[in-house]
Amino acid sequence: NQANSQSSSAGPKSVTAFERATQLMPGGVNSPARAFGAVGGTPLFIERADGPYLFDIDGKRYIDYIGSWGPMILGHAHPEVIDAITEAAAKGTSYGAPTEAESRLAEQIIDAVPSIEKVRLVNSGTEATMSALRVARGATGRKKVIKFAGNYHGHVDSLLVAAGSAAATLGAPDSPGVTPGAAEDTLVLSYNDVAGLQNAFAEHGPDIAAVILEPVVGNMGCVVPTMAFLQAARDLTTQHGSILIFDEVMTGFRVAFGGAQERFGITPDMTTLGKIVGGGMPLGAYGGKAEIMNQVLPAGKVFQAGTLSGNPVAVAAGSATLRLLKEQPPYERLEQLADRLANGLDQAAASAGIPHTVAKAGAMLTLFFNGDPVTSWNEADRCDREAFGRYFWGLIGEGIYMPCSQFEALFFSQQHTEAMIDETIAAAENVLKSL
Ligand code: PLP
Repeated sequence: NQANSQSSSAGPKSVTAFERATQLMPGGVNSPARAFGAVGGTPLFIERADGPYLFDIDGKRYIDYIGSWGPMILGHAHPEVIDAITEAAAKGTSYGAPTEAESRLAEQIIDAVPSIEKVRLVNSGTEATMSALRVARGATGRKKVIKFAGNYHGHVDSLLVAAGSAAATLGAPDSPGVTPGAAEDTLVLSYNDVAGLQNAFAEHGPDIAAVILEPVVGNMGCVVPTMAFLQAARDLTTQHGSILIFDEVMTGFRVAFGGAQERFGITPDMTTLGKIVGGGMPLGAYGGKAEIMNQVLPAGKVFQAGTLSGNPVAVAAGSATLRLLKEQPPYERLEQLADRLANGLDQAAASAGIPHTVAKAGAMLTLFFNGDPVTSWNEADRCDREAFGRYFWGLIGEGIYMPCSQFEALFFSQQHTEAMIDETIAAAENVLKSL
């Protein structure tokens, strides 16, 4: 087995490539998680990907459990998606004018996602949440927004508060460069805390424009909502005339075709999408009730625009991906694989005597190095990060590429097989025993 001969560190070519990259780009990367800061060591530089596998520039193969942090649910380089991209690119890569393909993708999204009657295409998940917030504030004429500690909504200034792995401080910006002013209308509450939400509405109800949440959290590890929490968010926003936004950038087309809202049967007023909707190309979307979306320029007055929005190549990739997911839904099988992996990791950690808990929703899951159930950032924050780092590098040595942080969910694709899941569990058993 090629994988078992690998070492628990980056190969020499990755080391050299990273040294060069750090001279050229901040931290050597274009998005921070890729630098392996949470686990230490040198990131693997990737040469190509195929189906369930990543290949690094040192010629090593890994079973991939990141899937580009979510988008690659069909597996890497799916032939029909690549064909769609190639065909679109040959006709020109951007026009800055409307196309019929955009309407096709819009129709596919509206068909799939219960809350979306009208949709606007953008270029990333961050753009989607940033724009949805502006529309919610524009539509309600209100300022305040409720978010939850440990939920990440992209690097929008006003939402970069208690955003995942950084300290969950009430209303205090997490990043230098985010002014207190930018975040002063953001109320940060604890996930799954119904009483906290009720209290916030009792105190600030008439000022609350929107509640934004991840309807299964992926950004403090996988944290599953209680039905009572989602229902309270739905009821309180309705009662107080606020807009409920589900950030389904990660969960959309992942935990069910219609996202978490389909899975849980709770329909928000607005939804943000990214990742899978672009089929591995830069594309995001936000949408919701027609009366809300009609506030967006040029139908309404809330400004939002983009030179490359609705880009034909990205639209082709997204459209092909959604078509394939609808024609042959992989969700039941992904759920079975997730159960198999969750049970296997649970047993492996138990027999190694490691305090742990496994959280799972659909094909999203996390092994937390924490013996207590993780329902909010308070418990996520108490995980043994150091043990996680050794687990991560041990698995790299076994040819398994897991997310490089305790605070990320793992994702797999329809190209993963039961045999790969079993190989992963066996590798985890080895690694966990030796921690
Ligand atoms: N919202 C959620 C739930 C996410 O997980 C992410 C990215 O991980 C974003 C928004 C931001 O999306 P992007 O990285 O495409 O800007």
